[in-house]
Amino acid sequence: MRIVKVQTCKLDHRLVEPSIIAYKSMRYARNGLVLLETDEGQFGVGELSPLKPVTGDTRDEALRFARYVSTSLKDSDPTDIAGIHSILEAASRKIGFMSQTASAAIDSACFDIVGKSVEKPVYKILGCPKPRMILNAVTIYLRSLEDTARKTRELMKAYSGNGLQRLKLKLSGDPRLDKARVLTVSEIFPGDLMLDANQAYRDEKSAVKVLNDIYDSLGPRVILVEQPSPKDDLQKLKSIRSKCKIPVFADEAVVTMMDLEKIIRSESADGVNIKLQKAGGFFWGCRMAELAKDRGLGIMVGCMLESEIGIAQDAHFLASISRGVVASDLDTDLEIKTETVTSSSRVPFRDGARIPLDRPGLGLELHSSYACRLRE
Ligand SMILES: [Mg+2]
Repeated sequence: MRIVKVQTCKLDHRLVEPSIIAYKSMRYARNGLVLLETDEGQFGVGELSPLKPVTGDTRDEALRFARYVSTSLKDSDPTDIAGIHSILEAASRKIGFMSQTASAAIDSACFDIVGKSVEKPVYKILGCPKPRMILNAVTIYLRSLEDTARKTRELMKAYSGNGLQRLKLKLSGDPRLDKARVLTVSEIFPGDLMLDANQAYRDEKSAVKVLNDIYDSLGPRVILVEQPSPKDDLQKLKSIRSKCKIPVFADEAVVTMMDLEKIIRSESADGVNIKLQKAGGFFWGCRMAELAKDRGLGIMVGCMLESEIGIAQDAHFLASISRGVVASDLDTDLEIKTETVTSSSRVPFRDGARIPLDRPGLGLELHSSYACRLRE
C-alpha cells in the first residue's frame, strides 16, 4: 500500500465557553487536519492541536511541517509506522524543527489506515482486545467562585446521565481563591476531583500549604494535582511532591520521551499526563506509557483543545494502555461545536468513561460536506 495524496487544512473550532487556564485564555481551538489517501482508496485522518507553550509549535508551524514532509510521505507505506516516523525525523533534522502535533496527526492518519485495511479498531491494532473503563474527568476552567458553582451544577446536569463521576478544576496560583473554589465544587459535586495548576505556583511553600489544606478537608477524593510549579524546575516539583499529600503529576514538564526520562531520573513526580499531541502520536505515546508503567509512575491520558477527531485518537490510545492508567481527561470535544464528523461516529461519553467505538481504524466518518471539501 502506498500513500498517493496528503492534504492539510485549518480547523477553527469555537469553544462553547472560553478556556481560561493560569497562563492563557482561548475562545477558539486553532487546529488542523491531515488527510492521507492510499493507492487502494483508503483514507486516514488525523487532527493536530498545537499550543506553543506546551507542544512547542503553532498551527502555522505544524501545517508548514506537514506540507514539507508530504513530498517524502508520498509513495511510502502507511502501515510501516516506524518507517513513517523515520521520514518525519529525517525532515526535522533537515529543517531543524519537529512539529509534535503534525507528527501526531500524520501518525494517527496512518493508524486509521492500518485499522481500516485489516478492519480492526486502532486499540486492537495496539494489542488491547477490550477497552478498560477509566473514569474520565470534565474540566472546569478558571472563573469566579460564583461562576465555578454555576458551572459545576451545569456540568452535573449535562453529564450525570453519562455517568459523570470526576471533575477537574484548573487552579490559578492564588491559594485563597483556589481553596475556596475546590471546596465550593466539593460541596456541590459528590464525586472525585482532579486539580491542575498549569505551573501557577512559583512559590513552593504556598503550593504545599494550599494542596495539603485541600487534602485535609477532602481526603483521597482529590486524586491528583497536575503541574503545580513551572515546568523547567524539576527540583521544585520534586520538593513539592515530597511534602504534598496529593499525588503530583507532571504535565507541561513531559512533552517527549526525553522529558519523561528526566522525570524518572529526577524522581520529581508520582505520575505523568501523556498526550498524543505532545508525544507525537501513538508510536511515541505507547512507548512513553510503557516506560512510565515500568518505572511505577501513574499515567493519566489528557488532551489539548481537540475536537471529535483528536479525542477519538486519544480514546484509542487510552484504551490501548493495559495497566497503570489512573485517570483520563478527554473532554474538549464536549465543549466544541463542529460538524466535522457524523454524530454516530463520535466517541461516546458513557458510564463516566470515553470508550472508543468498535469500528475499523479510528472509527470516524467525516461529515459528507466536509469530506467533499477536503477532496476538492
Ligand atoms: Mg494539565
